Amino acid sequence: MAATRFFRSLILGNQFIPNRTDFKRIMLTGYLAILCVVANLLYVVLASREGHANLSWLNVTFSVFSIIAIILLRLRYYTVAKFTLFLGAYLVIFIFCAIEPVGTAVSFFLILINLAATALFGINQWKYALSLTILGSILFIWVYIVGFHLVSPAFSEHYVMDNFIMNFFVFLVLAMLIVYFILELNHFAEKNLEKKETEAIVKNQELTKLNAELDRFVYSVSHDLRSPLASIAGLTYIGQHVENLEEAKQYFSMIDDRIKAQDFFIREIIDFYRNSRTGTQLERIPVRKQVEEIEREQAMNFGSIVCRIEIPEEFEVISDKIRLKSVMSNLMGNAIKYHDPAKSDRFIQVTAETSNTHWIIAVKDNGLGIGQGHLEKVFDMFYRASADSKGSGLGLFIARETVEKLGGKISVESALGKGSCFSVALPIQQPLHNLPE
Ligand code: ADP
Repeated sequence: MAATRFFRSLILGNQFIPNRTDFKRIMLTGYLAILCVVANLLYVVLASREGHANLSWLNVTFSVFSIIAIILLRLRYYTVAKFTLFLGAYLVIFIFCAIEPVGTAVSFFLILINLAATALFGINQWKYALSLTILGSILFIWVYIVGFHLVSPAFSEHYVMDNFIMNFFVFLVLAMLIVYFILELNHFAEKNLEKKETEAIVKNQELTKLNAELDRFVYSVSHDLRSPLASIAGLTYIGQHVENLEEAKQYFSMIDDRIKAQDFFIREIIDFYRNSRTGTQLERIPVRKQVEEIEREQAMNFGSIVCRIEIPEEFEVISDKIRLKSVMSNLMGNAIKYHDPAKSDRFIQVTAETSNTHWIIAVKDNGLGIGQGHLEKVFDMFYRASADSKGSGLGLFIARETVEKLGGKISVESALGKGSCFSVALPIQQPLHNLPE
Protein backbone atom coordinates (compact mmCIF):
# COMPACT_ATOMS: atom_id res chain seq x y z
CA MET A 1 0.00 0.00 0.00
CA ALA A 2 2.76 2.40 0.98
CA ALA A 3 4.62 1.50 -2.25
CA THR A 4 1.47 2.12 -4.34
CA ARG A 5 1.00 5.46 -2.64
CA PHE A 6 4.65 6.35 -3.30
CA PHE A 7 4.40 5.53 -7.03
CA ARG A 8 1.06 7.28 -7.28
CA SER A 9 2.43 10.50 -5.89
CA LEU A 10 5.61 10.12 -7.98
CA ILE A 11 3.59 9.76 -11.20
CA LEU A 12 0.59 12.00 -10.50
CA GLY A 13 1.70 14.44 -7.81
CA ASN A 14 -1.52 15.63 -6.18
CA GLN A 15 -3.74 15.30 -9.26
CA PHE A 16 -7.13 13.63 -8.97
CA ILE A 17 -8.31 11.74 -12.06
CA PRO A 18 -12.03 10.97 -11.79
CA ASN A 19 -12.24 8.45 -14.64
CA ARG A 20 -10.90 5.09 -13.47
CA THR A 21 -9.80 3.88 -16.91
CA ASP A 22 -7.92 7.12 -17.61
CA PHE A 23 -6.35 6.88 -14.17
CA LYS A 24 -5.17 3.30 -14.84
CA ARG A 25 -3.77 4.25 -18.27
CA ILE A 26 -1.83 7.18 -16.83
CA MET A 27 -0.50 5.04 -13.98
CA LEU A 28 0.58 2.31 -16.43
CA THR A 29 2.41 4.93 -18.54
CA GLY A 30 4.18 6.01 -15.36
CA TYR A 31 5.02 2.44 -14.30
CA LEU A 32 6.41 1.63 -17.77
CA ALA A 33 8.54 4.79 -17.69
CA ILE A 34 9.90 3.89 -14.23
CA LEU A 35 10.63 0.30 -15.34
CA CYS A 36 12.41 1.63 -18.42
CA VAL A 37 14.67 3.76 -16.21
CA VAL A 38 15.42 0.76 -13.96
CA ALA A 39 15.99 -1.63 -16.89
CA ASN A 40 18.30 0.87 -18.61
CA LEU A 41 20.39 1.20 -15.46
CA LEU A 42 20.73 -2.59 -15.39
CA TYR A 43 21.86 -2.55 -19.02
CA VAL A 44 24.48 0.08 -18.16
CA VAL A 45 25.82 -2.13 -15.36
CA LEU A 46 25.81 -5.17 -17.65
CA ALA A 47 27.58 -3.30 -20.47
CA SER A 48 30.31 -1.98 -18.17
CA ARG A 49 30.86 -5.52 -16.85
CA GLU A 50 31.18 -6.81 -20.41
CA GLY A 51 33.48 -3.96 -21.43
CA HIS A 52 30.92 -2.28 -23.74
CA ALA A 53 30.34 0.83 -21.65
CA ASN A 54 30.65 2.92 -24.82
CA LEU A 55 27.02 1.95 -25.68
CA SER A 56 25.71 3.12 -22.34
CA TRP A 57 24.90 6.62 -23.70
CA LEU A 58 21.97 4.95 -25.50
CA ASN A 59 20.56 3.63 -22.23
CA VAL A 60 21.13 6.98 -20.58
CA THR A 61 19.31 8.72 -23.47
CA PHE A 62 16.34 6.39 -23.09
CA SER A 63 16.29 6.96 -19.32
CA VAL A 64 16.18 10.72 -19.96
CA PHE A 65 13.20 10.26 -22.31
CA SER A 66 11.47 8.15 -19.64
CA ILE A 67 12.09 10.74 -16.91
CA ILE A 68 10.77 13.51 -19.19
CA ALA A 69 7.65 11.34 -19.76
CA ILE A 70 7.07 11.12 -15.98
CA ILE A 71 7.49 14.89 -15.62
CA LEU A 72 4.98 15.43 -18.47
CA LEU A 73 2.49 13.12 -16.69
CA ARG A 74 2.82 15.19 -13.56
CA LEU A 75 2.19 18.30 -15.67
CA ARG A 76 -0.98 16.64 -17.12
CA TYR A 77 0.36 16.36 -20.71
CA TYR A 78 -0.66 12.72 -20.84
CA THR A 79 -0.64 12.14 -24.61
CA VAL A 80 2.63 14.03 -25.09
CA ALA A 81 4.11 11.96 -22.25
CA LYS A 82 3.14 8.70 -24.00
CA PHE A 83 4.61 9.89 -27.30
CA THR A 84 7.82 10.97 -25.57
CA LEU A 85 8.20 7.54 -24.01
CA PHE A 86 7.44 5.64 -27.23
CA LEU A 87 9.52 7.83 -29.55
CA GLY A 88 12.44 7.65 -27.12
CA ALA A 89 12.06 3.87 -27.06
CA TYR A 90 11.91 3.62 -30.87
CA LEU A 91 14.95 5.85 -31.33
CA VAL A 92 17.12 3.91 -28.89
CA ILE A 93 15.94 0.43 -29.95
CA PHE A 94 16.42 1.40 -33.59
CA ILE A 95 20.03 2.40 -32.95
CA PHE A 96 20.62 -0.76 -30.91
CA CYS A 97 19.19 -2.84 -33.79
CA ALA A 98 21.59 -1.13 -36.16
CA ILE A 99 24.58 -1.80 -33.87
CA GLU A 100 24.02 -5.10 -32.07
CA PRO A 101 24.04 -8.54 -33.67
CA VAL A 102 20.62 -10.11 -34.41
CA GLY A 103 21.26 -12.65 -31.66
CA THR A 104 20.54 -10.21 -28.84
CA ALA A 105 16.91 -10.14 -30.13
CA VAL A 106 16.72 -6.42 -29.28
CA SER A 107 14.37 -5.97 -32.28
CA PHE A 108 11.62 -7.79 -30.33
CA PHE A 109 11.24 -4.63 -28.28
CA LEU A 110 9.65 -3.07 -31.37
CA ILE A 111 6.73 -5.48 -30.81
CA LEU A 112 6.59 -4.56 -27.14
CA ILE A 113 6.40 -0.84 -27.96
CA ASN A 114 3.43 -1.56 -30.24
CA LEU A 115 1.72 -3.61 -27.58
CA ALA A 116 2.23 -0.86 -25.00
CA ALA A 117 1.03 1.84 -27.43
CA THR A 118 -2.17 -0.13 -28.17
CA ALA A 119 -2.86 -0.60 -24.46
CA LEU A 120 -2.03 2.96 -23.44
CA PHE A 121 -3.83 4.81 -26.21
CA GLY A 122 -6.85 2.51 -26.12
CA ILE A 123 -9.75 2.38 -28.54
CA ASN A 124 -10.38 6.14 -28.38
CA GLN A 125 -6.91 7.03 -29.63
CA TRP A 126 -6.39 4.02 -31.91
CA LYS A 127 -4.99 6.26 -34.66
CA TYR A 128 -2.01 7.15 -32.47
CA ALA A 129 -1.37 3.48 -31.74
CA LEU A 130 -1.67 2.60 -35.42
CA SER A 131 0.78 5.32 -36.48
CA LEU A 132 3.31 4.02 -33.94
CA THR A 133 2.81 0.46 -35.27
CA ILE A 134 3.51 1.68 -38.79
CA LEU A 135 6.59 3.54 -37.57
CA GLY A 136 7.83 0.39 -35.79
CA SER A 137 7.35 -1.70 -38.93
CA ILE A 138 9.19 0.85 -41.08
CA LEU A 139 12.13 0.84 -38.66
CA PHE A 140 12.25 -2.97 -38.66
CA ILE A 141 12.18 -3.12 -42.49
CA TRP A 142 14.81 -0.41 -42.69
CA VAL A 143 17.29 -2.23 -40.43
CA TYR A 144 16.74 -5.87 -41.33
CA ILE A 145 15.40 -5.89 -44.92
CA VAL A 146 16.76 -2.73 -46.56
CA GLY A 147 19.84 -2.89 -44.35
CA PHE A 148 20.97 -0.10 -42.06
CA HIS A 149 24.04 -0.73 -39.96
CA LEU A 150 26.10 1.56 -37.83
CA VAL A 151 29.75 1.01 -37.11
CA SER A 152 29.90 -1.30 -34.15
CA PRO A 153 32.55 -2.87 -31.96
CA ALA A 154 33.06 -6.61 -32.13
CA PHE A 155 30.68 -8.28 -29.71
CA SER A 156 31.74 -11.38 -27.87
CA GLU A 157 29.46 -14.41 -27.88
CA HIS A 158 29.25 -13.96 -24.15
CA TYR A 159 27.91 -10.38 -24.58
CA VAL A 160 25.33 -11.54 -27.12
CA MET A 161 24.11 -14.34 -24.86
CA ASP A 162 23.96 -12.16 -21.74
CA ASN A 163 22.03 -9.48 -23.61
CA PHE A 164 19.70 -12.04 -25.14
CA ILE A 165 18.84 -13.38 -21.64
CA MET A 166 18.48 -9.90 -20.18
CA ASN A 167 16.27 -8.78 -23.10
CA PHE A 168 14.11 -11.86 -22.66
CA PHE A 169 13.38 -11.12 -19.01
CA VAL A 170 12.86 -7.37 -19.48
CA PHE A 171 10.53 -8.15 -22.38
CA LEU A 172 8.69 -10.72 -20.24
CA VAL A 173 8.17 -8.37 -17.28
CA LEU A 174 6.99 -5.47 -19.42
CA ALA A 175 4.70 -7.70 -21.52
CA MET A 176 3.20 -9.23 -18.36
CA LEU A 177 2.57 -5.76 -16.94
CA ILE A 178 0.78 -4.67 -20.11
CA VAL A 179 -1.34 -7.84 -20.35
CA TYR A 180 -2.19 -7.60 -16.65
CA PHE A 181 -3.30 -4.02 -17.21
CA ILE A 182 -5.59 -5.04 -20.10
CA LEU A 183 -7.05 -7.92 -18.04
CA GLU A 184 -7.64 -5.60 -15.09
CA LEU A 185 -9.42 -3.05 -17.28
CA ASN A 186 -11.58 -5.81 -18.72
CA HIS A 187 -12.39 -7.15 -15.26
CA PHE A 188 -13.30 -3.66 -14.11
CA ALA A 189 -15.56 -3.14 -17.15
CA GLU A 190 -17.32 -6.48 -16.49
CA LYS A 191 -17.86 -5.64 -12.82
CA ASN A 192 -19.18 -2.24 -13.81
CA LEU A 193 -21.56 -3.83 -16.27
CA GLU A 194 -22.83 -6.26 -13.60
CA LYS A 195 -23.37 -3.34 -11.21
CA LYS A 196 -25.22 -1.37 -13.87
CA GLU A 197 -27.40 -4.42 -14.64
CA THR A 198 -28.35 -4.82 -10.98
CA GLU A 199 -29.08 -1.11 -10.75
CA ALA A 200 -31.28 -1.35 -13.85
CA ILE A 201 -33.22 -4.27 -12.32
CA VAL A 202 -33.77 -2.34 -9.05
CA LYS A 203 -34.79 0.79 -11.00
CA ASN A 204 -37.19 -1.30 -13.06
CA GLN A 205 -38.81 -2.70 -9.92
CA GLU A 206 -39.09 0.80 -8.48
CA LEU A 207 -40.67 2.03 -11.70
CA THR A 208 -43.20 -0.82 -11.73
CA LYS A 209 -44.12 0.03 -8.13
CA LEU A 210 -44.34 3.73 -8.97
CA ASN A 211 -46.52 2.98 -11.96
CA ALA A 212 -48.94 0.96 -9.85
CA GLU A 213 -48.94 3.76 -7.26
CA LEU A 214 -49.58 6.32 -9.97
CA ASP A 215 -52.56 4.35 -11.29
CA ARG A 216 -54.02 4.19 -7.81
CA PHE A 217 -53.20 7.83 -7.25
CA VAL A 218 -54.93 9.03 -10.41
CA TYR A 219 -57.97 6.89 -9.69
CA SER A 220 -58.33 8.02 -6.09
CA VAL A 221 -57.48 11.67 -6.76
CA SER A 222 -60.09 11.90 -9.49
CA HIS A 223 -62.61 10.27 -7.17
CA ASP A 224 -61.73 12.41 -4.13
CA LEU A 225 -61.67 15.61 -6.17
CA ARG A 226 -65.05 14.98 -7.72
CA SER A 227 -67.05 13.74 -4.74
CA PRO A 228 -66.95 17.05 -2.77
CA LEU A 229 -68.00 18.85 -5.96
CA ALA A 230 -71.02 16.57 -6.29
CA SER A 231 -71.84 17.20 -2.65
CA ILE A 232 -71.44 21.01 -3.08
CA ALA A 233 -73.68 20.89 -6.18
CA GLY A 234 -76.34 18.99 -4.16
CA LEU A 235 -76.16 21.42 -1.22
CA THR A 236 -76.35 24.43 -3.56
CA TYR A 237 -79.40 22.96 -5.25
CA ILE A 238 -81.18 22.38 -1.93
CA GLY A 239 -80.05 25.82 -0.65
CA GLN A 240 -81.59 27.52 -3.66
CA HIS A 241 -85.00 26.09 -2.75
CA VAL A 242 -85.23 26.87 0.97
CA GLU A 243 -87.13 29.95 2.13
CA ASN A 244 -85.77 30.13 5.64
CA LEU A 245 -82.54 32.20 5.99
CA GLU A 246 -81.27 30.19 9.01
CA GLU A 247 -81.65 26.95 7.08
CA ALA A 248 -79.88 28.48 4.06
CA LYS A 249 -76.99 29.57 6.36
CA GLN A 250 -76.64 25.96 7.50
CA TYR A 251 -76.26 24.84 3.91
CA PHE A 252 -73.68 27.58 3.29
CA SER A 253 -71.73 26.38 6.31
CA MET A 254 -71.83 22.78 5.00
CA ILE A 255 -70.65 24.00 1.59
CA ASP A 256 -67.85 25.90 3.34
CA ASP A 257 -66.79 22.67 5.12
CA ARG A 258 -66.65 20.78 1.83
CA ILE A 259 -64.60 23.56 0.19
CA LYS A 260 -62.14 23.57 3.11
CA ALA A 261 -61.79 19.80 2.90
CA GLN A 262 -61.26 20.08 -0.84
CA ASP A 263 -58.64 22.80 -0.35
CA PHE A 264 -56.86 20.68 2.26
CA PHE A 265 -56.81 17.72 -0.09
CA ILE A 266 -55.39 19.80 -2.95
CA ARG A 267 -52.70 21.13 -0.61
CA GLU A 268 -51.81 17.55 0.33
CA ILE A 269 -51.37 16.70 -3.34
CA ILE A 270 -49.16 19.77 -3.83
CA ASP A 271 -47.09 18.69 -0.80
CA PHE A 272 -46.72 15.23 -2.27
CA TYR A 273 -45.64 16.64 -5.65
CA ARG A 274 -43.24 19.13 -4.07
CA ASN A 275 -41.68 16.43 -1.93
CA SER A 276 -41.04 14.12 -4.87
CA ARG A 277 -39.76 16.84 -7.22
CA THR A 278 -37.67 19.29 -5.24
CA GLY A 279 -34.31 18.78 -3.55
CA THR A 280 -33.85 19.21 0.18
CA GLN A 281 -32.54 22.47 1.61
CA LEU A 282 -30.83 22.04 4.93
CA GLU A 283 -30.91 24.71 7.60
CA ARG A 284 -31.01 25.04 11.38
CA ILE A 285 -34.56 24.78 12.64
CA PRO A 286 -35.53 25.84 16.15
CA VAL A 287 -38.10 23.07 16.65
CA ARG A 288 -40.08 24.64 19.49
CA LYS A 289 -40.69 27.79 17.44
CA GLN A 290 -41.83 25.75 14.49
CA VAL A 291 -44.25 23.67 16.58
CA GLU A 292 -45.65 26.84 18.21
CA GLU A 293 -46.22 28.30 14.76
CA ILE A 294 -48.18 25.20 13.72
CA GLU A 295 -50.16 25.39 16.98
CA ARG A 296 -51.13 28.99 16.16
CA GLU A 297 -52.12 28.04 12.60
CA GLN A 298 -54.32 25.21 13.84
CA ALA A 299 -55.66 27.09 16.90
CA MET A 300 -59.20 27.12 15.50
CA ASN A 301 -59.34 23.31 15.50
CA PHE A 302 -58.07 22.70 19.03
CA GLY A 303 -61.33 23.39 20.87
CA SER A 304 -60.82 22.11 24.40
CA ILE A 305 -57.79 19.95 23.48
CA VAL A 306 -54.72 21.01 25.43
CA CYS A 307 -51.49 21.32 23.46
CA ARG A 308 -48.38 20.58 25.52
CA ILE A 309 -45.14 21.50 23.83
CA GLU A 310 -42.34 19.91 25.85
CA ILE A 311 -39.38 20.99 23.76
CA PRO A 312 -36.49 23.05 25.14
CA GLU A 313 -36.19 26.51 23.58
CA GLU A 314 -32.67 25.78 22.30
CA PHE A 315 -33.48 22.42 20.68
CA GLU A 316 -32.45 22.62 17.02
CA VAL A 317 -32.36 20.17 14.16
CA ILE A 318 -30.65 20.55 10.81
CA SER A 319 -33.14 19.64 8.16
CA ASP A 320 -35.47 20.97 5.47
CA LYS A 321 -37.75 23.54 7.13
CA ILE A 322 -40.69 23.33 4.73
CA ARG A 323 -40.68 19.54 4.74
CA LEU A 324 -40.40 19.22 8.51
CA LYS A 325 -43.24 21.71 8.92
CA SER A 326 -45.46 19.76 6.54
CA VAL A 327 -44.80 16.52 8.49
CA MET A 328 -45.38 18.11 11.90
CA SER A 329 -48.57 19.89 10.71
CA ASN A 330 -49.88 16.61 9.48
CA LEU A 331 -49.15 14.70 12.70
CA MET A 332 -50.52 17.48 14.91
CA GLY A 333 -53.55 17.88 12.65
CA ASN A 334 -54.25 14.14 12.90
CA ALA A 335 -53.85 14.19 16.69
CA ILE A 336 -56.58 16.85 16.78
CA LYS A 337 -58.78 15.22 14.10
CA TYR A 338 -58.77 11.83 15.79
CA HIS A 339 -59.30 13.02 19.38
CA ASP A 340 -61.61 11.05 21.62
CA PRO A 341 -64.74 13.11 22.31
CA ALA A 342 -65.55 10.79 25.22
CA LYS A 343 -62.50 11.93 27.20
CA SER A 344 -62.58 15.10 29.21
CA ASP A 345 -58.78 15.62 29.56
CA ARG A 346 -57.94 15.61 25.86
CA PHE A 347 -54.39 16.56 25.03
CA ILE A 348 -51.68 16.43 22.42
CA GLN A 349 -48.10 16.43 23.52
CA VAL A 350 -45.06 17.24 21.36
CA THR A 351 -41.62 16.22 22.65
CA ALA A 352 -38.10 16.21 21.24
CA GLU A 353 -34.92 14.41 22.23
CA THR A 354 -31.52 13.47 20.82
CA SER A 355 -30.08 9.97 20.51
CA ASN A 356 -26.52 9.18 19.39
CA THR A 357 -27.46 9.29 15.74
CA HIS A 358 -30.88 10.95 15.49
CA TRP A 359 -33.11 13.78 16.57
CA ILE A 360 -36.44 12.33 17.61
CA ILE A 361 -39.59 14.43 17.58
CA ALA A 362 -42.79 12.77 18.81
CA VAL A 363 -46.45 13.75 18.67
CA LYS A 364 -48.51 11.94 21.29
CA ASP A 365 -52.26 12.09 21.90
CA ASN A 366 -54.87 10.39 24.05
CA GLY A 367 -57.30 10.17 21.13
CA LEU A 368 -59.16 7.31 19.50
CA GLY A 369 -56.05 5.25 18.84
CA ILE A 370 -55.50 2.84 15.96
CA GLY A 371 -56.31 -0.88 15.96
CA GLN A 372 -53.28 -3.24 15.80
CA GLY A 373 -54.41 -4.62 12.43
CA HIS A 374 -54.19 -1.17 10.86
CA LEU A 375 -50.92 0.02 12.37
CA GLU A 376 -48.67 -1.28 9.61
CA LYS A 377 -50.83 0.14 6.86
CA VAL A 378 -51.57 3.66 8.09
CA PHE A 379 -48.59 4.98 6.09
CA ASP A 380 -49.90 3.47 2.83
CA MET A 381 -51.33 5.65 0.12
CA PHE A 382 -55.06 6.44 0.64
CA TYR A 383 -55.30 4.15 3.66
CA ARG A 384 -57.92 5.10 6.23
CA ALA A 385 -57.80 3.18 9.47
CA SER A 386 -61.45 3.52 10.37
CA ALA A 387 -64.78 4.07 8.68
CA ASP A 388 -65.18 7.50 10.29
CA SER A 389 -61.76 8.74 9.20
CA LYS A 390 -62.10 12.32 8.16
CA GLY A 391 -59.50 12.65 5.46
CA SER A 392 -58.20 11.31 2.18
CA GLY A 393 -55.75 8.79 3.64
CA LEU A 394 -52.89 10.65 1.96
CA GLY A 395 -51.49 12.57 4.94
CA LEU A 396 -49.38 9.88 6.60
CA PHE A 397 -48.25 8.48 3.24
CA ILE A 398 -46.87 11.93 2.34
CA ALA A 399 -45.40 12.28 5.84
CA ARG A 400 -43.50 8.98 5.45
CA GLU A 401 -42.26 9.88 1.94
CA THR A 402 -41.13 13.26 3.22
CA VAL A 403 -39.32 11.91 6.29
CA GLU A 404 -37.60 9.31 4.11
CA LYS A 405 -36.49 12.04 1.73
CA LEU A 406 -34.91 13.71 4.78
CA GLY A 407 -33.05 10.47 5.45
CA GLY A 408 -35.17 9.67 8.51
CA LYS A 409 -37.82 7.24 9.68
CA ILE A 410 -41.35 7.64 10.95
CA SER A 411 -43.02 5.14 13.27
CA VAL A 412 -46.18 4.79 15.30
CA GLU A 413 -47.28 3.17 18.53
CA SER A 414 -50.97 3.12 19.27
CA ALA A 415 -53.72 1.31 21.13
CA LEU A 416 -57.44 1.58 20.43
CA GLY A 417 -59.18 3.81 22.94
CA LYS A 418 -55.88 4.87 24.57
CA GLY A 419 -54.14 7.09 22.04
CA SER A 420 -51.26 7.23 19.58
CA CYS A 421 -47.66 8.33 19.45
CA PHE A 422 -46.00 9.15 16.11
CA SER A 423 -42.21 9.52 16.20
CA VAL A 424 -40.04 11.13 13.57
CA ALA A 425 -36.33 10.26 13.73
CA LEU A 426 -34.11 12.58 11.67
CA PRO A 427 -30.43 11.82 11.13
CA ILE A 428 -28.05 14.20 12.85
CA GLN A 429 -26.56 16.14 9.95
CA GLN A 430 -22.86 16.99 9.69
CA PRO A 431 -20.99 19.20 9.39
CA LEU A 432 -22.71 21.94 11.29
CA HIS A 433 -20.14 24.61 10.50
CA ASN A 434 -21.09 24.59 6.78
CA LEU A 435 -24.60 25.68 7.54
CA PRO A 436 -25.93 29.19 7.83
CA GLU A 437 -26.11 30.61 11.35
P1 ADP B 1 -56.41 10.99 6.72
O1 ADP B 1 -56.39 12.04 5.69
O2 ADP B 1 -57.47 9.97 6.55
O3 ADP B 1 -56.32 11.54 8.10
P2 ADP B 1 -53.77 9.96 7.14
O4 ADP B 1 -52.89 9.30 6.15
O5 ADP B 1 -53.29 11.19 7.78
O6 ADP B 1 -55.14 10.14 6.39
O7 ADP B 1 -54.08 8.88 8.26
C1 ADP B 1 -54.44 7.57 7.88
C2 ADP B 1 -55.36 7.00 8.88
O8 ADP B 1 -54.68 6.76 10.11
C3 ADP B 1 -56.50 7.92 9.22
O9 ADP B 1 -57.57 7.72 8.34
C4 ADP B 1 -56.84 7.52 10.65
O10 ADP B 1 -57.77 6.46 10.65
C5 ADP B 1 -55.55 7.02 11.22
N1 ADP B 1 -54.87 8.01 12.08
C6 ADP B 1 -53.92 8.87 11.73
N2 ADP B 1 -53.48 9.60 12.78
C7 ADP B 1 -54.20 9.19 13.84
C8 ADP B 1 -54.24 9.54 15.23
N3 ADP B 1 -53.43 10.46 15.74
N4 ADP B 1 -55.11 8.88 16.04
C9 ADP B 1 -55.90 7.94 15.53
N5 ADP B 1 -55.93 7.56 14.25
C10 ADP B 1 -55.10 8.15 13.41
